[in-house]
Amino acid sequence: MTPVVEKLGAAVDEWVASNQAALSSTRRHLHAHPELGYAEFETTSFLEQRLRHHGLTPRRLPTGTGLTVDVGSGGPVVVLRGDIDALPLADLKDVPYASTREGLAHACGHDVHTTVVLGVAVALASLDGLPGTVRCVFQPAEETVPGGATEVVASGVLDGASRAFALHCDPSIPAGTIGLRTGPITAACDRMDVTLTGPGGHTARPQLTVDLVDALGRLITDVPGLLSRQVDPRTGMSLVWGAVNAGVAANAIPQRGQLRGTVRVLDRDAWKGAEELMRSLVERVAATTGAEVDVDYIRGVPPVVNDPRAVALLRTAALETVGSDHLVLSPQSMGGEDFGWFADVMPIALARLGTHGGGPPLDLHRGTFDVDERAIGVGVRLLARTALHALVADAAPSSTGPPPPARTRRPAPGDTAGRPVDEEPHRG
Ligand SMILES: [Zn+2]
Ligand SMILES: [Zn+2]
Repeated sequence: MTPVVEKLGAAVDEWVASNQAALSSTRRHLHAHPELGYAEFETTSFLEQRLRHHGLTPRRLPTGTGLTVDVGSGGPVVVLRGDIDALPLADLKDVPYASTREGLAHACGHDVHTTVVLGVAVALASLDGLPGTVRCVFQPAEETVPGGATEVVASGVLDGASRAFALHCDPSIPAGTIGLRTGPITAACDRMDVTLTGPGGHTARPQLTVDLVDALGRLITDVPGLLSRQVDPRTGMSLVWGAVNAGVAANAIPQRGQLRGTVRVLDRDAWKGAEELMRSLVERVAATTGAEVDVDYIRGVPPVVNDPRAVALLRTAALETVGSDHLVLSPQSMGGEDFGWFADVMPIALARLGTHGGGPPLDLHRGTFDVDERAIGVGVRLLARTALHALVADAAPSSTGPPPPARTRRPAPGDTAGRPVDEEPHRG
Protein backbone atom coordinates (compact mmCIF):
# COMPACT_ATOMS: atom_id res chain seq x y z
CA MET A 1 0.00 0.00 0.00
CA THR A 2 1.32 3.45 -0.82
CA PRO A 3 1.69 5.76 2.20
CA VAL A 4 -1.05 8.12 0.96
CA VAL A 5 -3.62 5.32 0.59
CA GLU A 6 -2.57 3.87 3.94
CA LYS A 7 -2.98 7.22 5.73
CA LEU A 8 -6.21 8.34 4.04
CA GLY A 9 -7.69 4.82 4.09
CA ALA A 10 -7.11 4.58 7.86
CA ALA A 11 -8.75 7.99 8.28
CA VAL A 12 -11.82 6.76 6.33
CA ASP A 13 -11.96 3.68 8.59
CA GLU A 14 -12.00 5.99 11.61
CA TRP A 15 -14.66 8.21 10.03
CA VAL A 16 -16.87 5.15 9.39
CA ALA A 17 -16.33 3.82 12.93
CA SER A 18 -17.57 7.09 14.42
CA ASN A 19 -20.40 7.64 11.90
CA GLN A 20 -22.15 4.24 11.87
CA ALA A 21 -25.32 5.63 13.44
CA ALA A 22 -25.40 8.59 11.04
CA LEU A 23 -24.98 6.27 8.04
CA SER A 24 -27.89 4.10 9.25
CA SER A 25 -30.10 7.09 9.82
CA THR A 26 -29.33 8.50 6.34
CA ARG A 27 -30.21 5.15 4.79
CA ARG A 28 -33.39 4.92 6.85
CA HIS A 29 -34.45 8.42 5.82
CA LEU A 30 -33.95 7.53 2.14
CA HIS A 31 -35.67 4.16 2.66
CA ALA A 32 -38.73 5.85 4.17
CA HIS A 33 -38.94 8.38 1.29
CA PRO A 34 -38.57 6.43 -1.97
CA GLU A 35 -39.05 8.16 -5.34
CA LEU A 36 -39.34 6.75 -8.85
CA GLY A 37 -36.85 7.32 -11.67
CA TYR A 38 -36.57 10.97 -12.84
CA ALA A 39 -38.87 11.99 -9.95
CA GLU A 40 -36.17 11.87 -7.25
CA PHE A 41 -36.59 15.57 -6.37
CA GLU A 42 -36.67 15.23 -2.58
CA THR A 43 -33.81 12.73 -2.63
CA THR A 44 -31.75 15.11 -4.77
CA SER A 45 -32.48 18.08 -2.47
CA PHE A 46 -31.61 15.98 0.57
CA LEU A 47 -28.26 15.03 -0.97
CA GLU A 48 -27.54 18.63 -2.04
CA GLN A 49 -28.19 19.84 1.49
CA ARG A 50 -25.92 17.21 3.04
CA LEU A 51 -23.11 17.82 0.58
CA ARG A 52 -23.28 21.62 0.96
CA HIS A 53 -23.28 21.24 4.74
CA HIS A 54 -19.89 19.55 4.38
CA GLY A 55 -18.48 22.34 2.20
CA LEU A 56 -18.97 20.60 -1.14
CA THR A 57 -20.49 22.06 -4.31
CA PRO A 58 -22.94 19.63 -5.93
CA ARG A 59 -24.26 20.25 -9.45
CA ARG A 60 -27.62 18.94 -10.63
CA LEU A 61 -27.75 16.78 -13.72
CA PRO A 62 -29.56 18.31 -16.73
CA THR A 63 -32.49 15.92 -16.20
CA GLY A 64 -33.40 17.83 -13.00
CA THR A 65 -32.80 14.98 -10.59
CA GLY A 66 -29.53 13.37 -9.60
CA LEU A 67 -26.31 15.27 -9.15
CA THR A 68 -22.57 15.15 -9.33
CA VAL A 69 -20.02 16.46 -6.86
CA ASP A 70 -16.25 16.66 -7.01
CA VAL A 71 -14.24 15.93 -3.88
CA GLY A 72 -10.61 17.05 -4.06
CA SER A 73 -9.16 18.80 -7.09
CA GLY A 74 -6.95 18.30 -10.10
CA GLY A 75 -6.20 15.07 -11.89
CA PRO A 76 -6.62 12.22 -12.07
CA VAL A 77 -10.40 12.01 -11.80
CA VAL A 78 -12.11 8.82 -10.63
CA VAL A 79 -15.91 8.34 -10.70
CA LEU A 80 -18.01 6.65 -8.01
CA ARG A 81 -21.61 6.08 -9.02
CA GLY A 82 -24.62 5.53 -6.78
CA ASP A 83 -28.15 5.10 -8.15
CA ILE A 84 -30.91 6.91 -6.24
CA ASP A 85 -34.29 5.70 -7.57
CA ALA A 86 -36.81 3.31 -6.04
CA LEU A 87 -39.34 0.82 -7.43
CA PRO A 88 -43.12 0.87 -7.89
CA LEU A 89 -43.62 -1.83 -5.27
CA ALA A 90 -45.40 -1.82 -1.92
CA ASP A 91 -43.08 -1.95 1.08
CA LEU A 92 -44.25 -5.02 3.03
CA LYS A 93 -41.91 -4.61 6.02
CA ASP A 94 -43.06 -3.78 9.52
CA VAL A 95 -40.12 -1.59 10.52
CA PRO A 96 -39.91 2.04 11.74
CA TYR A 97 -38.18 3.08 8.50
CA ALA A 98 -40.69 1.41 6.14
CA SER A 99 -41.73 3.41 3.08
CA THR A 100 -44.07 6.29 3.86
CA ARG A 101 -45.22 6.35 0.23
CA GLU A 102 -47.86 3.95 -0.92
CA GLY A 103 -46.77 1.69 -3.74
CA LEU A 104 -43.12 2.81 -3.67
CA ALA A 105 -40.17 1.04 -2.06
CA HIS A 106 -36.39 1.00 -2.07
CA ALA A 107 -36.50 -2.71 -2.89
CA CYS A 108 -33.30 -2.77 -4.93
CA GLY A 109 -31.01 -1.31 -2.25
CA HIS A 110 -30.41 1.98 -4.04
CA ASP A 111 -30.90 3.72 -0.67
CA VAL A 112 -27.80 1.83 0.47
CA HIS A 113 -25.83 2.69 -2.68
CA THR A 114 -26.74 6.37 -2.28
CA THR A 115 -25.77 6.36 1.41
CA VAL A 116 -22.45 4.68 0.61
CA VAL A 117 -21.45 7.21 -2.08
CA LEU A 118 -22.63 10.11 0.10
CA GLY A 119 -20.57 8.66 2.97
CA VAL A 120 -17.48 8.45 0.76
CA ALA A 121 -17.95 12.06 -0.38
CA VAL A 122 -18.32 13.37 3.18
CA ALA A 123 -15.52 11.21 4.60
CA LEU A 124 -13.04 12.21 1.88
CA ALA A 125 -14.09 15.88 2.10
CA SER A 126 -12.91 15.87 5.72
CA LEU A 127 -9.38 14.82 4.73
CA ASP A 128 -6.43 16.77 3.35
CA GLY A 129 -4.09 15.58 0.65
CA LEU A 130 -6.44 13.71 -1.69
CA PRO A 131 -4.22 12.79 -4.69
CA GLY A 132 -6.74 13.94 -7.33
CA THR A 133 -10.51 14.25 -7.72
CA VAL A 134 -13.19 11.77 -6.68
CA ARG A 135 -16.30 12.58 -8.71
CA CYS A 136 -19.40 11.21 -6.98
CA VAL A 137 -22.32 10.73 -9.36
CA PHE A 138 -25.77 10.29 -7.84
CA GLN A 139 -27.59 8.83 -10.83
CA PRO A 140 -31.36 8.92 -11.35
CA ALA A 141 -33.62 6.32 -12.93
CA GLU A 142 -31.55 3.14 -12.92
CA GLU A 143 -34.74 1.06 -12.97
CA THR A 144 -35.96 2.60 -16.24
CA VAL A 145 -35.10 1.55 -19.80
CA PRO A 146 -32.61 2.48 -21.21
CA GLY A 147 -31.71 3.91 -17.78
CA GLY A 148 -30.59 7.21 -16.27
CA ALA A 149 -26.97 6.23 -16.94
CA THR A 150 -27.54 7.22 -20.60
CA GLU A 151 -28.31 10.77 -19.43
CA VAL A 152 -25.20 10.84 -17.24
CA VAL A 153 -23.01 9.78 -20.16
CA ALA A 154 -24.70 12.25 -22.55
CA SER A 155 -24.39 15.15 -20.08
CA GLY A 156 -20.60 15.04 -20.25
CA VAL A 157 -20.11 14.90 -16.47
CA LEU A 158 -17.86 11.87 -16.95
CA ASP A 159 -15.48 13.79 -19.23
CA GLY A 160 -11.89 13.70 -18.08
CA ALA A 161 -12.37 10.79 -15.70
CA SER A 162 -10.18 7.72 -16.00
CA ARG A 163 -12.49 5.00 -14.63
CA ALA A 164 -15.75 4.46 -12.79
CA PHE A 165 -16.79 2.20 -9.92
CA ALA A 166 -20.14 1.22 -8.45
CA LEU A 167 -21.52 -1.39 -6.12
CA HIS A 168 -24.80 -3.23 -5.82
CA CYS A 169 -26.39 -4.89 -2.81
CA ASP A 170 -26.22 -8.69 -2.96
CA PRO A 171 -28.60 -10.38 -0.50
CA SER A 172 -27.18 -13.81 -1.35
CA ILE A 173 -23.90 -13.11 0.50
CA PRO A 174 -23.45 -12.04 4.15
CA ALA A 175 -22.94 -8.45 5.22
CA GLY A 176 -19.19 -7.97 5.58
CA THR A 177 -18.54 -9.93 2.38
CA ILE A 178 -17.70 -8.46 -1.02
CA GLY A 179 -18.20 -10.20 -4.36
CA LEU A 180 -16.07 -9.42 -7.42
CA ARG A 181 -15.87 -10.69 -10.97
CA THR A 182 -13.81 -9.79 -14.04
CA GLY A 183 -15.67 -9.65 -17.36
CA PRO A 184 -19.46 -9.75 -17.69
CA ILE A 185 -21.24 -9.55 -14.33
CA THR A 186 -24.74 -8.58 -15.53
CA ALA A 187 -26.52 -9.24 -18.82
CA ALA A 188 -28.01 -7.10 -21.54
CA CYS A 189 -31.74 -7.52 -21.86
CA ASP A 190 -33.73 -6.38 -24.90
CA ARG A 191 -37.37 -6.97 -25.75
CA MET A 192 -38.78 -8.14 -29.05
CA ASP A 193 -42.43 -8.07 -30.13
CA VAL A 194 -43.27 -9.85 -33.39
CA THR A 195 -46.63 -9.35 -35.13
CA LEU A 196 -47.72 -11.59 -38.01
CA THR A 197 -50.65 -10.77 -40.28
CA GLY A 198 -52.43 -12.63 -43.07
CA PRO A 199 -55.79 -12.86 -44.86
CA GLY A 200 -57.28 -15.39 -42.39
CA GLY A 201 -59.68 -18.12 -43.49
CA HIS A 202 -61.30 -21.50 -42.86
CA THR A 203 -59.18 -24.24 -41.31
CA ALA A 204 -60.68 -26.55 -43.98
CA ARG A 205 -58.78 -24.65 -46.69
CA PRO A 206 -55.32 -23.59 -45.40
CA GLN A 207 -54.00 -23.74 -48.98
CA LEU A 208 -56.09 -20.67 -49.88
CA THR A 209 -54.66 -18.44 -47.14
CA VAL A 210 -51.67 -18.10 -44.81
CA ASP A 211 -51.84 -20.45 -41.83
CA LEU A 212 -50.91 -17.87 -39.21
CA VAL A 213 -50.86 -20.21 -36.21
CA ASP A 214 -48.53 -22.57 -38.06
CA ALA A 215 -46.33 -19.59 -38.96
CA LEU A 216 -46.17 -18.50 -35.30
CA GLY A 217 -45.18 -22.04 -34.34
CA ARG A 218 -42.33 -21.96 -36.82
CA LEU A 219 -41.07 -18.65 -35.42
CA ILE A 220 -41.35 -19.96 -31.85
CA THR A 221 -39.11 -22.93 -32.50
CA ASP A 222 -37.00 -21.94 -35.51
CA VAL A 223 -35.77 -18.50 -34.43
CA PRO A 224 -34.15 -19.61 -31.14
CA GLY A 225 -32.84 -22.73 -32.90
CA LEU A 226 -31.25 -20.76 -35.76
CA LEU A 227 -29.92 -18.19 -33.27
CA SER A 228 -27.98 -20.89 -31.45
CA ARG A 229 -26.12 -21.60 -34.70
CA GLN A 230 -25.55 -17.96 -35.63
CA VAL A 231 -23.83 -16.65 -32.49
CA ASP A 232 -20.82 -17.71 -30.48
CA PRO A 233 -22.29 -19.72 -27.58
CA ARG A 234 -19.81 -18.01 -25.22
CA THR A 235 -21.66 -14.72 -25.67
CA GLY A 236 -24.55 -16.25 -23.73
CA MET A 237 -27.13 -14.83 -26.16
CA SER A 238 -30.56 -16.35 -25.74
CA LEU A 239 -34.07 -15.62 -26.98
CA VAL A 240 -36.90 -16.80 -24.77
CA TRP A 241 -40.51 -16.18 -25.74
CA GLY A 242 -42.76 -15.12 -22.88
CA ALA A 243 -46.09 -14.60 -24.64
CA VAL A 244 -47.95 -15.91 -27.69
CA ASN A 245 -51.40 -14.80 -28.77
CA ALA A 246 -53.52 -15.66 -31.82
CA GLY A 247 -56.97 -16.80 -32.82
CA VAL A 248 -60.24 -17.59 -31.04
CA ALA A 249 -62.17 -20.31 -32.87
CA ALA A 250 -60.98 -23.88 -33.40
CA ASN A 251 -61.96 -23.79 -37.09
CA ALA A 252 -60.86 -20.29 -38.14
CA ILE A 253 -57.38 -19.24 -39.22
CA PRO A 254 -56.72 -15.84 -37.58
CA GLN A 255 -55.61 -12.70 -39.41
CA ARG A 256 -53.22 -11.60 -36.72
CA GLY A 257 -50.90 -13.16 -34.15
CA GLN A 258 -48.23 -11.89 -31.80
CA LEU A 259 -45.12 -13.16 -30.03
CA ARG A 260 -43.25 -11.38 -27.25
CA GLY A 261 -39.90 -12.34 -25.82
CA THR A 262 -36.62 -11.17 -24.33
CA VAL A 263 -33.13 -11.35 -25.75
CA ARG A 264 -30.36 -11.63 -23.14
CA VAL A 265 -26.64 -11.53 -23.81
CA LEU A 266 -23.47 -11.22 -21.74
CA ASP A 267 -21.15 -9.83 -24.41
CA ARG A 268 -21.12 -6.14 -25.37
CA ASP A 269 -20.19 -6.60 -29.03
CA ALA A 270 -22.74 -9.38 -29.50
CA TRP A 271 -25.35 -7.12 -27.89
CA LYS A 272 -24.61 -4.36 -30.40
CA GLY A 273 -25.44 -6.75 -33.25
CA ALA A 274 -28.40 -8.42 -31.54
CA GLU A 275 -31.18 -6.31 -33.06
CA GLU A 276 -30.03 -6.74 -36.66
CA LEU A 277 -29.54 -10.47 -36.15
CA MET A 278 -32.97 -10.98 -34.56
CA ARG A 279 -34.73 -8.98 -37.25
CA SER A 280 -33.06 -10.95 -40.01
CA LEU A 281 -33.82 -14.34 -38.41
CA VAL A 282 -37.48 -13.46 -37.84
CA GLU A 283 -37.86 -12.11 -41.38
CA ARG A 284 -36.18 -15.15 -42.93
CA VAL A 285 -38.42 -17.63 -41.08
CA ALA A 286 -41.56 -15.56 -41.67
CA ALA A 287 -40.77 -15.34 -45.41
CA THR A 288 -41.12 -19.12 -45.74
CA THR A 289 -44.71 -18.90 -44.43
CA GLY A 290 -46.12 -16.07 -46.54
CA ALA A 291 -47.20 -14.05 -43.48
CA GLU A 292 -46.53 -10.33 -43.25
CA VAL A 293 -44.21 -9.60 -40.36
CA ASP A 294 -43.54 -6.58 -38.20
CA VAL A 295 -40.77 -6.59 -35.58
CA ASP A 296 -40.71 -4.12 -32.72
CA TYR A 297 -37.29 -4.38 -31.09
CA ILE A 298 -36.73 -2.44 -27.87
CA ARG A 299 -33.14 -2.05 -26.79
CA GLY A 300 -32.61 -2.34 -23.04
CA VAL A 301 -29.32 -1.95 -21.19
CA PRO A 302 -25.90 -3.27 -22.19
CA PRO A 303 -24.17 -5.91 -20.08
CA VAL A 304 -21.88 -4.66 -17.33
CA VAL A 305 -18.47 -5.95 -18.38
CA ASN A 306 -15.99 -5.44 -15.56
CA ASP A 307 -12.60 -4.18 -16.70
CA PRO A 308 -9.75 -6.38 -15.36
CA ARG A 309 -7.59 -3.47 -14.20
CA ALA A 310 -10.51 -1.74 -12.48
CA VAL A 311 -11.42 -5.04 -10.77
CA ALA A 312 -7.80 -5.39 -9.61
CA LEU A 313 -8.11 -1.98 -7.89
CA LEU A 314 -11.40 -3.04 -6.28
CA ARG A 315 -9.79 -6.28 -5.17
CA THR A 316 -6.86 -4.53 -3.52
CA ALA A 317 -9.31 -2.28 -1.68
CA ALA A 318 -11.57 -5.24 -0.77
CA LEU A 319 -8.65 -7.19 0.74
CA GLU A 320 -7.79 -4.16 2.90
CA THR A 321 -11.46 -3.67 3.84
CA VAL A 322 -12.72 -7.19 4.62
CA GLY A 323 -9.74 -9.55 4.11
CA SER A 324 -9.47 -12.56 1.82
CA ASP A 325 -11.87 -14.66 3.95
CA HIS A 326 -14.69 -12.26 3.05
CA LEU A 327 -13.99 -11.82 -0.63
CA VAL A 328 -15.86 -14.12 -3.02
CA LEU A 329 -16.21 -14.64 -6.76
CA SER A 330 -19.57 -13.26 -7.87
CA PRO A 331 -21.50 -15.37 -10.35
CA GLN A 332 -22.75 -13.78 -13.56
CA SER A 333 -26.28 -12.50 -13.30
CA MET A 334 -28.72 -12.54 -16.23
CA GLY A 335 -30.33 -9.47 -14.66
CA GLY A 336 -29.73 -5.99 -16.11
CA GLU A 337 -27.97 -2.91 -14.66
CA ASP A 338 -27.65 0.38 -16.55
CA PHE A 339 -24.13 1.11 -15.19
CA GLY A 340 -23.01 -0.75 -18.34
CA TRP A 341 -23.60 2.50 -20.31
CA PHE A 342 -20.66 4.12 -18.46
CA ALA A 343 -18.38 1.66 -20.28
CA ASP A 344 -19.12 3.58 -23.50
CA VAL A 345 -16.68 6.23 -22.27
CA MET A 346 -14.37 4.60 -19.71
CA PRO A 347 -13.40 1.31 -18.05
CA ILE A 348 -15.82 0.33 -15.29
CA ALA A 349 -16.19 -2.17 -12.48
CA LEU A 350 -19.22 -3.08 -10.38
CA ALA A 351 -18.77 -4.85 -7.03
CA ARG A 352 -21.32 -6.85 -5.06
CA LEU A 353 -21.90 -5.71 -1.50
CA GLY A 354 -23.10 -8.52 0.78
CA THR A 355 -26.20 -7.44 2.71
CA HIS A 356 -27.56 -10.68 4.16
CA GLY A 357 -27.89 -10.48 7.93
CA GLY A 358 -29.15 -13.98 8.74
CA GLY A 359 -32.54 -15.62 8.45
CA PRO A 360 -34.30 -16.38 5.20
CA PRO A 361 -32.79 -14.68 2.12
CA LEU A 362 -34.52 -11.39 1.22
CA ASP A 363 -34.37 -11.05 -2.54
CA LEU A 364 -34.14 -7.82 -4.51
CA HIS A 365 -37.28 -6.34 -6.14
CA ARG A 366 -39.54 -7.73 -3.45
CA GLY A 367 -41.52 -5.74 -0.91
CA THR A 368 -39.77 -7.60 1.91
CA PHE A 369 -36.23 -6.61 0.85
CA ASP A 370 -34.06 -5.23 3.63
CA VAL A 371 -30.36 -5.16 4.46
CA ASP A 372 -28.04 -5.70 7.38
CA GLU A 373 -26.90 -2.09 7.81
CA ARG A 374 -23.38 -3.15 8.77
CA ALA A 375 -22.91 -3.43 5.01
CA ILE A 376 -23.07 0.36 4.62
CA GLY A 377 -19.79 1.04 6.42
CA VAL A 378 -18.15 -1.78 4.46
CA GLY A 379 -19.34 -0.14 1.23
CA VAL A 380 -17.97 3.27 2.24
CA ARG A 381 -14.58 1.82 3.16
CA LEU A 382 -14.48 -0.27 -0.03
CA LEU A 383 -15.34 2.53 -2.46
CA ALA A 384 -13.20 5.14 -0.68
CA ARG A 385 -10.14 2.87 -0.74
CA THR A 386 -10.86 1.85 -4.34
CA ALA A 387 -10.96 5.52 -5.36
CA LEU A 388 -7.71 6.23 -3.51
CA HIS A 389 -5.94 3.29 -5.15
CA ALA A 390 -7.29 4.33 -8.56
CA LEU A 391 -6.10 7.94 -8.11
CA VAL A 392 -2.62 6.75 -7.20
CA ALA A 393 -2.54 4.21 -10.05
CA ASP A 394 -3.80 6.69 -12.64
CA ALA A 395 -1.36 9.40 -11.51
CA ALA A 396 1.78 7.31 -11.77
CA PRO A 397 2.75 5.85 -15.14
CA SER A 398 3.01 2.10 -14.56
CA SER A 399 6.03 0.03 -15.54
CA THR A 400 4.07 -1.35 -18.47
CA GLY A 401 3.39 2.12 -19.82
CA PRO A 402 0.26 4.25 -19.78
CA PRO A 403 -3.10 2.50 -19.72
CA PRO A 404 -4.42 1.67 -23.20
CA PRO A 405 -7.53 3.42 -24.56
CA ALA A 406 -10.79 2.45 -22.89
CA ARG A 407 -12.12 0.46 -25.83
CA THR A 408 -9.25 -2.02 -25.80
CA ARG A 409 -9.16 -2.42 -22.05
CA ARG A 410 -12.19 -4.61 -21.83
CA PRO A 411 -11.69 -8.34 -21.51
CA ALA A 412 -12.51 -10.71 -24.32
CA PRO A 413 -16.04 -12.16 -24.28
CA GLY A 414 -16.48 -14.49 -21.33
CA ASP A 415 -12.87 -14.05 -20.31
CA THR A 416 -12.61 -14.46 -16.55
CA ALA A 417 -9.76 -16.96 -16.52
CA GLY A 418 -6.45 -16.14 -14.92
CA ARG A 419 -7.59 -12.88 -13.36
CA PRO A 420 -6.59 -12.22 -9.78
CA VAL A 421 -10.16 -12.17 -8.48
CA ASP A 422 -10.79 -15.65 -9.81
CA GLU A 423 -8.32 -17.08 -7.34
CA GLU A 424 -11.10 -16.61 -4.85
CA PRO A 425 -13.21 -19.73 -4.31
CA HIS A 426 -16.77 -19.85 -5.53
CA ARG A 427 -19.18 -19.15 -2.75
CA GLY A 428 -21.00 -22.16 -1.46
ZN1 LIG B 1 -33.32 -3.16 -9.47
ZN1 LIG C 1 -30.56 -2.04 -8.50
